[in-house]
Amino acid sequence: MEQYRNYINGKWRTPSTGVYVPNINPADPDEVLGMFPQSGGIDVDQAISAALAASCEWQRVPGPERGKLLLRFADLLDQHAAPLGKILTKEQGKVLKESAGEVKRAAVEARFMAGEASRLSGETLPSEVQGVWVQVIRESLGVIGAISPWNFPVVTPVRKIAPALACGNTVVFKPASDTPWTAVYLMELLIEAGLPPGVVNLVMGSGSVVGQHLSESSAVNGITFTGSTATGRRIYTAAAQHLGRVQLELGGKNAAVVMDAPNLEEAAKEIVAAAFAASGQRCTAISRVIVSKAEAGRLTDIIVELVRQIKVGDGLSSDTTMGPLISHARLETAEEFVRNAENSGARILTGGKRLTELGKGFFYAPTVLRGVKPDSPVAREEIFGPVLPIISVESIEEAVTICNDTSYGLAASVFTRDIDKAMEFAGEIQAGMIHLNHGTASQAHVPFGGVKASGQGAFSIGSTAKDFYMTNKVIYLRVS
Ligand code: NAP
Ligand code: MG
Repeated sequence: MEQYRNYINGKWRTPSTGVYVPNINPADPDEVLGMFPQSGGIDVDQAISAALAASCEWQRVPGPERGKLLLRFADLLDQHAAPLGKILTKEQGKVLKESAGEVKRAAVEARFMAGEASRLSGETLPSEVQGVWVQVIRESLGVIGAISPWNFPVVTPVRKIAPALACGNTVVFKPASDTPWTAVYLMELLIEAGLPPGVVNLVMGSGSVVGQHLSESSAVNGITFTGSTATGRRIYTAAAQHLGRVQLELGGKNAAVVMDAPNLEEAAKEIVAAAFAASGQRCTAISRVIVSKAEAGRLTDIIVELVRQIKVGDGLSSDTTMGPLISHARLETAEEFVRNAENSGARILTGGKRLTELGKGFFYAPTVLRGVKPDSPVAREEIFGPVLPIISVESIEEAVTICNDTSYGLAASVFTRDIDKAMEFAGEIQAGMIHLNHGTASQAHVPFGGVKASGQGAFSIGSTAKDFYMTNKVIYLRVS
C-alpha cells in the first residue's frame, strides 16, 4: 500500500508523527486507495517557516513571470484531466464526466489568475498639495493558509493557490482528510510547472490539528477557507486572535423560485442538474424549490420524471449519472433529514432511501419531497445531499419571505418570464449570487461568494480575489 508524504520546502517529507491514515473509495469502502499523513503541529510549523522564508523572493518575482508559472500549471491541468479526473472519482465519488469537467474548470480559473498577475494595479490620486504625488499600490499579503473541503478537491485548492501565487503570496495548503490524493497530484503538477521551494507547501492531516494550528499561527497573514459554517466560525475566531485576514466560503440553502416560468421543462432541467450534480454535495446546489401554486403540479411531475432517470452507481462506470456520497456520516445526515420531513407531513415522491443493492458504497437515492413545511429543517438547513424539497406559495411576497428565512445567503435561481418579478426577486433575495432563468452554475472569471452565514471576506474567483490576497500601501512623493 503506497504511503504518501507532505511537501514542505521543496521536498516530500514523512510526517513528524509517523502516523498515516487510509483513504477509502466511497463507492466501495473496502477499497483503500493509499495511506496519507496524519500530520502534527510540528509539520505545520515547518511548512509555515518554509512559506515565510520563500515569501521575500517570490513577491519580488515580477507579476507576469509569476503568471507564466500559472499558465504552465493550467496547461498541465488540461493535459492531466483524464488521469487526475479518475483519481478524483475514486476518492470523492463523483462521476468521471464531472471530475474531468472540474479539472478543466480549474485550468480556466488558473489561466484567468495568470492574467491577473499582470493586472495588479493600484491608483494614482490628485494631491491636495502642489508638488506631492499620491499613489496607492498593492502589495502581497504574505503567507496564506489554504484549507479546502472534499466536494471539489481540485478546483477549490486551485481557486486558492492560483490567486495566492499570482498576487505574490506563498501558501500552506491543507486539503480535506477525505480527498488528500488529488492534493498530492496537484502538488506534482505545480512542481512540474516550475514551483520554487517553499512557495506552496502541502500538509495533510485532520482539521482539528493541522487546520486549527494553521489558523492560530500569527505567521499566517490570511486564511482562505471553504467548508462548513461551523468550521468557518472556528477559523474566524482563531485568526482574530492575531488579526489574521479571512476569506470564508461557507454553506448554502439555495432556492429555485418558479413563478410564471417561460418554460417549465427548461426550468425543471436546470433545477435537477443544479440539485443533483456531485450528489447534491455542492455549496451552490439548488436545495429547495419554491413554486407558485399554479405551476407546482406540473413542475413537480417533470422534476420527478427527470430524477427517476438518474442512474446511481460507481462514478467510474460510463452509464452512471450520480455517484455515492462522500461518507457514511453524510448518508446518515440525508436519511435523518428525510425521516424528519416525513414525520412532519412531507411526502416522498421518489427516492428517500439508501441503495444497499449497489453494495457497501455510500449510495443514496435522489429524493424529491412534496408538502414540505417552510419552517422545517429540511426547508431551511443545509443537507449537502441529493434531497430536493418542494414548497408551493401563493405570492411573490411569500416566495421572498421563505427564500430569505434561512441563515444562509449564497445563491438563488429565479425562473420567470416577468421582468418586473425578476428584478424584484433580484433586489429582495438575500444572496451573493442571483441567477435569473438560469441554474446556480458559476463562471470561471466571475466573482463568487455569499452573504449572511454563507461567507465572509472578499469574493473569490475573478478580480475581487485580489482584495483578499493583497494589501494596500500608500506612497506620498514630494518632487522638488
Ligand atoms: P468542514 O468540516 O468544514 O471541512 C472543511 C475543511 O476544514 C477540511 O479540510 C477540514 O479538515 C477542515 N477543518 C475541520 N475542522 C477544522 C478546524 N477546527 N480548523 C481548521 N480547519 C478545519 O466541511 P466539510 O464537511 O468537509 O464540507 C462540507 C461543507 O462545506 C458544506 O457545509 C458546504 O456547504 C461547504 N462548502 C462550501 C463551499 C463554498 O464555496 N461556499 C464549497 C464547498 C463546500 P478535515 O477534512 O480533516 O476534517
Ligand atoms: Mg476517501
